[in-house]
Amino acid sequence: MNSPCSKDYGLISQNFMPDLNSSQIQELQQLLLIARTELKQQLSFNASASEPVKLDQSAVGRVSRVDAIQQQHMAVSTRRQAQQRLERLNVAIKAINNEDYGYCQDCDEPINYRRLQVQPEAVVCLTCQQKRDIST
Ligand SMILES: [Zn+2]
Repeated sequence: MNSPCSKDYGLISQNFMPDLNSSQIQELQQLLLIARTELKQQLSFNASASEPVKLDQSAVGRVSRVDAIQQQHMAVSTRRQAQQRLERLNVAIKAINNEDYGYCQDCDEPINYRRLQVQPEAVVCLTCQQKRDIST
């Protein structure tokens, strides 16, 4: 019979040894494919939103025209971010069956599984991501 202590130890040691098992890999693969599908939908939806603003001058005032232009700029930058993420997702989908997947490119430590669940395309651990964010 397992004492509560040994159970706790099991959970803790799992957190400290985040090597991915095959069911975790499978789950992340699913997450990657879902995220890619969603992004592709988002990109096709956004394609019309980032077209040049065409407004009927007689129907709308100046303010709403400015709004529309701002919205268009936002759509363009959202679209760029989505395209960049799509590229990272594609890379991760190809790489997920490699032994390198799930390891930080900067420090070679395993990337936390919870981080991968949120961002399955992540190539660096949270610590190194923060370092990258600061340096850019
Ligand atoms: Zn790292």
